[in-house]
Amino acid sequence: MKKLAPEDCIFCKIVAGEVPASIVQRDEHTLAFMDVAPVTDGHVLVIPTHHTPDLAGLDDSSGGRMFAIGRRVAAALRQSGLPCEGVNFFLADGAPAGQTVFHTHLHVIPRTRGDGLGFRHGEGFVRGRPSRIELDEFARRLGARC
Ligand code: AMP
Ligand code: ZN
Repeated sequence: MKKLAPEDCIFCKIVAGEVPASIVQRDEHTLAFMDVAPVTDGHVLVIPTHHTPDLAGLDDSSGGRMFAIGRRVAAALRQSGLPCEGVNFFLADGAPAGQTVFHTHLHVIPRTRGDGLGFRHGEGFVRGRPSRIELDEFARRLGARC
């Protein structure tokens, strides 16, 4: 995980008003603004105003607030007149997961039938179902750490 000082973080600069952004909604703890390179029209980012590069640094209250604002934005998208038949939330935690801006953010992405978005699989990708024994073992390992 890259460590960025808040003063070098593009999203902190948006929070501070030093970089232009099209603000949807803001309060003391959360900011929602239009993604500058939307995957569909109406693509919004919701961020905690406090700099945190990753999920590990996000407290439950800020995470809950981010999700709550995401829900409101999703509802607004459905009423906005923008094409929106469904909504995806997406959050990339870590570069291998696709994170490029290291200030935690929730993508709120309006979807329409046939818009062509989706997770990509490499050629020949085949994924069988794990056995119940494997699933139970994964659940045990994770549950012990939650
Ligand atoms: P991720 O790849 O999940 O880290 O997403 C980063 C998102 O931030 C991308 O969708 C970018 O288009 C978006 N982004 C980067 N810089 C800006 C900016 N200055 N204003 C709005 N969105 C931005
Ligand atoms: Zn930041």
